[in-house]
Amino acid sequence: MVWMYSLQVVLFSLFLFGLALFSLRYAWWRFPVDYRRPRILMYHMVREPVSGARFNKLRVMPSRFERQIRWLYAHGWYFAFMSELNAPERLPRKTVCITFDDGYRDNFTHVHPILERYRARATLYLVADRLGRDWSTDKKAHHNTGELKREPKLTDDQIRQMLGSGHWQLGGHTMTHANLSRLDTKEKRQEILQAKRLLEKNFRTSLRSFAYPFGIYGKSDVGIVAEAGFETAVTTRNGISRDIPRERLELRRIKISGKDNMLAFRLKMRGG
Ligand SMILES: [Zn+2]
Repeated sequence: MVWMYSLQVVLFSLFLFGLALFSLRYAWWRFPVDYRRPRILMYHMVREPVSGARFNKLRVMPSRFERQIRWLYAHGWYFAFMSELNAPERLPRKTVCITFDDGYRDNFTHVHPILERYRARATLYLVADRLGRDWSTDKKAHHNTGELKREPKLTDDQIRQMLGSGHWQLGGHTMTHANLSRLDTKEKRQEILQAKRLLEKNFRTSLRSFAYPFGIYGKSDVGIVAEAGFETAVTTRNGISRDIPRERLELRRIKISGKDNMLAFRLKMRGG
């Protein structure tokens, strides 16, 4: 019977270890972050995971995404466009900005109908020259499986329909999803400014917010983004920004992963 006792000890230790990890990640015992501070959520794709793929964290299942939006809707969260953060004092308590990066086709086929159903809004950080590109290798050369390149991207017509519905706003994400740290000042300007002008002309809209590709940027990039006329910019740093006007060009986001269940989502909305 000793082995049974040992098994119980092992299982209990595993449970404690799991609880400790969970607690470290979600800090469920702490007070929620002040609900006057807007939450900015970061998404990429809403689609079924691909078996054995590297980037499944970027793929949130459609049924899960719908539950998340339904929960926000039912709990009185206000869905704001990123441009509304320009005047944060006018925003209600419990404001959430949904953001999508890159421009995957499922944003039209899966996300758009859900936004319509719950009268939600989202900001799309669109890569201007996105078709047939494999940007994952610009961060790490060994990410050369072509996984994100094969992922279908939004067409201009789909984007027009999305913008026409009033549920979407466009943001900048450079021409080619550039790794800004590898470019000289002239190239950076071209990537950031040219994409802004091109998208504004093509979709007859104005781009007021920017997302740094891969979340990689330096002080000079912040300067170029400001000079380009963007009012806000988002990073991939996790969390909830404390002071929007001061941090407006380096805002934090809450990463929503394909692995998050509903409890994880709710805890993230609470504490970042
Ligand atoms: Zn991106």
